[in-house]
Amino acid sequence: SRTIDRIAAGEVVERPASVVKELVENAIDAGSTAITVEAKEGGIEFIRVTDNGCGIERDQLPTAFLRHATSKIEDADDLNHIASLGFRGEALSSIAAVSRVEIITKRKENLTGTRMVLEGAREQSIDEIGAPDGTTFLMRNLFFNTPVRRKFLKQPATEGSYITDLMEHLALSRPDISFKFVLGNQTRFHTSGNGDLREVIYRIYGREIAAELVPIQIEENGIKVEGYLGKPVLVRSNRNFEIYFINGRFIRSGVIAKAIEEGYKQYLMQHKFPLCVLHITMDTETVDVNVHPSKMDVRFSDGMAFARMLSEKIAITLRNREM
Ligand code: ADP
Ligand code: MG
Repeated sequence: SRTIDRIAAGEVVERPASVVKELVENAIDAGSTAITVEAKEGGIEFIRVTDNGCGIERDQLPTAFLRHATSKIEDADDLNHIASLGFRGEALSSIAAVSRVEIITKRKENLTGTRMVLEGAREQSIDEIGAPDGTTFLMRNLFFNTPVRRKFLKQPATEGSYITDLMEHLALSRPDISFKFVLGNQTRFHTSGNGDLREVIYRIYGREIAAELVPIQIEENGIKVEGYLGKPVLVRSNRNFEIYFINGRFIRSGVIAKAIEEGYKQYLMQHKFPLCVLHITMDTETVDVNVHPSKMDVRFSDGMAFARMLSEKIAITLRNREM
C-alpha cells in the first residue's frame, strides 16, 4: 500500500475500536435499521460489521476505498450542515491500508451483489456474488503490515473492552436501530430497534438498573433533553455511567458532567457520580461538537446557562419522582 495511505491511516485507525466506530457510522449513514458487530481477539484479528443499509454499487466499490472518496459531501456548504456522522472519505481507505479486508455488498435494486478482497489496500479480487441486501465488511489482522503500530495495541481483553464501551454508546445513541454485538463467542447485547431507550438500557445494563430509572424530559430555549436518570441507589464510583449525547453524538464534557452531578447534589446534599443516559438536542449555533475522530469534546456558546438549567431540572425531576 502507498506510504501516504498508511500514514493517513494513523489518524483514523488507532485501534480496533476506531475501526468499529468508522464501520458502524458508515452503516448508520447507509440508512441501516439493523447492524451486527462481531469482534474476535479484541477486534485485532477479526471485525465483522453487517448492515441492511443501501449497499454499494459495483462500479463505486473500488472508488469507496480511495482516499477522500466520499459520497456524502455535495458542496463546501455541506461541511457546515453535516448530517451524516462520517464524511471525511478516509475511513475505508485507512482501514484497508493496514489490514486484510473483505466486503460483500448488494443494493436492493440489483439482482446480485459484489465481493471485493483487499490486502494492505491492494485489490486482490472483485466478483459478482449472491448476497442479502446491505453490506458486510470483514476486517482481519489489523496492522499486519505496520508492526510498530501493532505493538502499541493493548491486550485483546482491553481492546475488546474499548469496543464494548463504544458499542454500548452507539446502541444507546440510536434506540431506533437494532444493534447486535458479539465479542468472542458471546453475544453481549441485542437491542430491538423499536425506539425505546429504556429497552436499550435494559438490554445493556440489565434488569436491576432498568428498574431504577426516572424519565426526564426538558424543553427550554430550543434545547431538548430526554432520557433517564438513575435513582440514587445506582450511584457509581466514577463518571463512566454519566452518558449523554449531543445531537446524536456521544461526547464527554466537563461542563455537562458537573451540571449532572450538581443536579444530583442539590437533591442528595452530597456529591455523587450518578448513572444516567441523556439525549440532548440543540441548535448547532449553540453548540460546537468537535468532529475530529479522536475527540469527543464540545463547546457551548453559553455553557453556564445550559449547565444551570440542566442541574435545576435534574434536581426537580429527582424530587418529583414517583417512589
Ligand atoms: P465517508 O464515510 O467519510 O464518506 P468512508 O471511507 O467511510 O468515507 O466510506 C466511503 C464511501 O463508501 C461512503 O461515502 C459510502 O458511499 C460508501 N460506504 C461505506 N460503507 C458503507 C456501507 N456500510 N453501506 C453503504 N455505503 C457505504
Ligand atoms: Mg465513513
